[in-house]
Amino acid sequence: MVVARDYECFAEARDGLKGRIGFVPTMGALHEGHLSLIRRAKEENDHVIVSIFVNPTQFLEGEDLDKYPRREEADRKICELAGVDLLYLPTTDQIYEEDELCIGAPKRRGYILEGARRPGHFDGMLQVVMKLLNLSRADRAYFGKKDAQQLVLIRQMVRNYFMKVQIVPCEIIRDADGLALSSRNLYLSPEERRRALSLSRSLKRAAKLIQSGQHRSEVIRAAMRGILEPEVTELEYVAIVDRDFRPLEEVELGNTIILVAAKVGETRLIDNLWV
Ligand code: AMP
Repeated sequence: MVVARDYECFAEARDGLKGRIGFVPTMGALHEGHLSLIRRAKEENDHVIVSIFVNPTQFLEGEDLDKYPRREEADRKICELAGVDLLYLPTTDQIYEEDELCIGAPKRRGYILEGARRPGHFDGMLQVVMKLLNLSRADRAYFGKKDAQQLVLIRQMVRNYFMKVQIVPCEIIRDADGLALSSRNLYLSPEERRRALSLSRSLKRAAKLIQSGQHRSEVIRAAMRGILEPEVTELEYVAIVDRDFRPLEEVELGNTIILVAAKVGETRLIDNLWV
């Protein structure tokens, strides 16, 4: 595995990779969720590139940029064992210059839900993903459904900018007890971790209601809030939208995403279910 820190080293190693390239961009503190993307990229391509970059422009003032977990040594080993060909660990000044040209998130899809709670987050995310996709020149790039709105916006960027890369959505990986894996789970105390299970439990309840024929969003959301409110510190949103992120009054099977965002203690968590 080649480990590249600067652009020249990365570009040289990238030029040496022939055939189909799969790319997995991450912010590190790698877990089974990331690994599932890497494994899939490995299966479907000749070579796999992984990047680890905690992108400052997608963190808002007061968010956890400084304390975001950084585990470079462990991440390197995980990538090596997973058969990654090229690992890119750029510094911020390798990626950004002063007075950047910026692409912005779309006015509607980019500024609701996550975009409303974290205004500017998606602009920074799209900016860095555009750069990383261009750098990797990947045939396919792998993203988790865990970040559902991010995934939808990246697909839109690829469409709107006529980019050739294929975006591959990957299923959410959970711990045995249902908690969706996230690097931010490392922040949770045992007590908070128990309370964080209310997110996946509320989604399971939604799935049950839908299976039993209840399709009204208001009823499903109320049932979810009933599970979440006693447990979480701040419930940010419970939303039922279509795959284009338009609110739905009735669940449409095959076209619905149910999303939840909440703080447990100081830790902000998101989870969702595609139905
Ligand atoms: P991050 O390092 O949090 O920026 O995540 C990098 C990629 O891994 C993104 O495409 C995420 O959606 C994906 N990812 C994170 N957690 C999970 C999970 N539990 N299951 C599947 N994909 C995930």
